[in-house]
Amino acid sequence: MSKPSIYGLTLDQLAAWLAEHGHKKSRALQIWNALYRERVTEFSAMTEVKQECRDLLAEHFAIETLEEHTRQESADGTIKFLFRLQDGNLIETVLMRHKFGLSVCVTTQVGCNIGCSFCASGLLRKSRDLTSGEIVGQVMKVQLHLDRRQRDELVTHIVVMGIGEPFDNFEHMSNFIRVIRDHKGLAIGPRHITVSTSGLVPKIREFADSDLGTNLAISLHAPNNEIRTQIMKINRAYPIEPLMEAIDYYLEKTNRRITLEYILLRDINDQPEHALELAQLVGSRRNLANVNLIPYNPVDEHSQYQRSSKETITAFYDTLKKNNISCSVRLEHGVDIDAACGQLRSKQIRSERKRVAEGN
Ligand code: SAH
Ligand code: SF4
Repeated sequence: MSKPSIYGLTLDQLAAWLAEHGHKKSRALQIWNALYRERVTEFSAMTEVKQECRDLLAEHFAIETLEEHTRQESADGTIKFLFRLQDGNLIETVLMRHKFGLSVCVTTQVGCNIGCSFCASGLLRKSRDLTSGEIVGQVMKVQLHLDRRQRDELVTHIVVMGIGEPFDNFEHMSNFIRVIRDHKGLAIGPRHITVSTSGLVPKIREFADSDLGTNLAISLHAPNNEIRTQIMKINRAYPIEPLMEAIDYYLEKTNRRITLEYILLRDINDQPEHALELAQLVGSRRNLANVNLIPYNPVDEHSQYQRSSKETITAFYDTLKKNNISCSVRLEHGVDIDAACGQLRSKQIRSERKRVAEGN
């Protein structure tokens, strides 16, 4: 059986594990340093750690459990990685360059069961949740890639916006955040981490009550229930009213700003009346909400959806602004390399399936 990655443990969990196995808790910090500061990928390279302890770790854990399958680099410096997990599944991770730093977009599940009708990830149903070790592993793979280039670049930001619904894998997602935000390790501050959810209402409340402290983004995508149900079937279980109540709970509890994501789909939700309706919906929350307008990345299998024109996007933005709604248009990264989330993976899987079917 394959061993779990040690990346999945927080510093406290590692200390507790060592104590249970007859080692000093204080050794945890040496191991943590080796993993996240020296960034060793073999237990044998942890020279500060006693041999006996290294052997014990190697008996129970792996360090890297992801293997690079494909890497595509875009002209703008975006790098898209396809990783193979120990069970053969493929996942996608993206590194993006911004003025403010380097961000990594991580995947949380193999596929996604929410099945939004515009999304490439939802095309392949969820086969399993990722472990926290596999989610941390994505960040480490990217950081190790940067280390090899020797340009002293560090991952500074994380967006949990890859394949999967992070709130449908709450425990592992939470552990992942605890590992990467630890100031003795990767030290990626919670305000540099954004988790995006399609709107699982009870989990938004649980998140508000937690100590995770990261930014939250909600995939709203529509100004009313009729359109939202048409494009996101999750809206049947959690319609806009309870979603807004959960958002209010979050705002009240944390007093932090929230991002409302809004994909613009031509002639479906991108008209001036939709912008007005959205402005009304945001209403009293406008001081703590930022609407992020997302130009749609067309997905081959969802040909019913097209990207809105530049003029339509500008008009939508202007209407929101005129109504005193804070908003921005998402900059696109890596448009030349299958940019839409889940596209590279679904393409790869389909071509592999085709090869198998054709007997090559
Ligand atoms: N499951 C979570 C997080 C992953 S999706 C969620 O839905 O929020 C991250 C973001 O990408 C979401 O806002 C999602 O709606 C958006 N997205 C999905 N497919 C897209 C596409 N083809 N073009 C642009 N954005 C897309
Ligand atoms: Fe899943 Fe998010 Fe895609 Fe919807 S948009 S199918 S929730 S990954």
